[in-house]
Amino acid sequence: TSNETPQALVEKDQKNIWHHMSKDDANREPMIATEAKGSWITDHNGNSYLDGMSGLWCVNVGYGREELAQAAYDQLKEMSYTSMSQSHLPAIKLAEKLNDMLNDEYMIFYSNSGSDANEVAFKVARQYHQQNGESLRYKFISRYRAYHGGSLGALAATGQSIRKYKYEPLTSGFLHVAPPDNYRRPEGQSIEEYNLQRAEEIEEKIIWEQKETIAAVIMEPVITGGGVLIPHPVYVEKVEEICKRHGVLLIIDEVICGFGRTGRTFGHMHSDIKPDIITMAKGLTSAYLPLSVTAVRKDIYETFNNTEENSHFRHVNTFGGNPAACAVALKNIDIMERENLTNRAAVLGEKLRDGLKELENHPYVGDVRNQGFVMGIEMVEDKTTKEPATDQRVGKIIADCKNNGLIIGKNGDTVAGYNNILTLCPPLSSTDDDLDFIV
Ligand code: PLP
Repeated sequence: TSNETPQALVEKDQKNIWHHMSKDDANREPMIATEAKGSWITDHNGNSYLDGMSGLWCVNVGYGREELAQAAYDQLKEMSYTSMSQSHLPAIKLAEKLNDMLNDEYMIFYSNSGSDANEVAFKVARQYHQQNGESLRYKFISRYRAYHGGSLGALAATGQSIRKYKYEPLTSGFLHVAPPDNYRRPEGQSIEEYNLQRAEEIEEKIIWEQKETIAAVIMEPVITGGGVLIPHPVYVEKVEEICKRHGVLLIIDEVICGFGRTGRTFGHMHSDIKPDIITMAKGLTSAYLPLSVTAVRKDIYETFNNTEENSHFRHVNTFGGNPAACAVALKNIDIMERENLTNRAAVLGEKLRDGLKELENHPYVGDVRNQGFVMGIEMVEDKTTKEPATDQRVGKIIADCKNNGLIIGKNGDTVAGYNNILTLCPPLSSTDDDLDFIV
């Protein structure tokens, strides 16, 4: 709360804050969020909006959960900080809980953000191969249209040139292949055939690049920020099989897809795979506090534990595994389980999709697709040619939604000409009325 008038707040904001991803800060009126409850946010002018994007795809259990505030308060009072060179109760309990959820044994490495978690994954992969006597393995294969973070390595893994080209050269050794984009697959090809072919392109890349130089493949279960591209399960399974055969690690980025978002506990659980490394952030705490995790398979971890000098993992960060953040993550997972939110995303995701599917009768809507509560609406200028809708058309829809009290997103890659996918990623706790409102 503030005693300032809305206008004074806007002026102070414009004078002092360099906003993320923005241009023209001095002339743009930001939405200043003053209150939020459930799926709804109120701004400085008293307007309410249904947050159809859960912030940045992260507020999975919805806003205003007192239990989460209480968990942070209690932990901060009891023991506010220790580094992860030591340990503490919430970190221990959370690591155990995550292993329960993964149905397997991983070692849990704590950091602060999704980008951090991916950087850790890249460093672990390179060092693992070195310690295994395969020091030539330094390259990573990622996909075009993927987003893996803003730091130099995670951005190198990202496959959206618009976000990258002004900051190059980035970390070297990152290569890209095209992901499956089922809506735009060649006519006459079945989804399964097409997905297998796309997976085989990863194998071709591995071979052309000399397989002894490839450290890992990184991918999201569903490309989210690049336009909600949902693979057939055979794709993910084939990629795993290719990786195994060539001694390449498989890193699964669950930063958005984890914690119920796609209707399964983790997004990779839609297919039958066991990733070597899994990265998590966002829904881990529903963004009440910053926390991320890199989960590393035990046998990989064990190569870091021999007695040779410098065989340990030389990575530290001050805030990773912060006790209050871990306590909030535990309570957040507790809420998800108690309210059965993963199942809710699976069941209501279908309902939301069915409600929106009618839009496909509209001349500018090419495709409506979802996995749980991650949804993409692909806008086109022409349904036969599938020419992507213009920025103006897409921008107008987003503005019209906002004027009618609904925040939605837009994703894709402007440089590649795909900036035409409207996105929805509502809190998993959204009520039936909220979903009706979106439709
Ligand atoms: N990975 C994916 C799939 C993401 O969507 C994001 C952020 O949007 C990141 C990694 C980076 O996470 P952070 O913004 O917390 O660094």
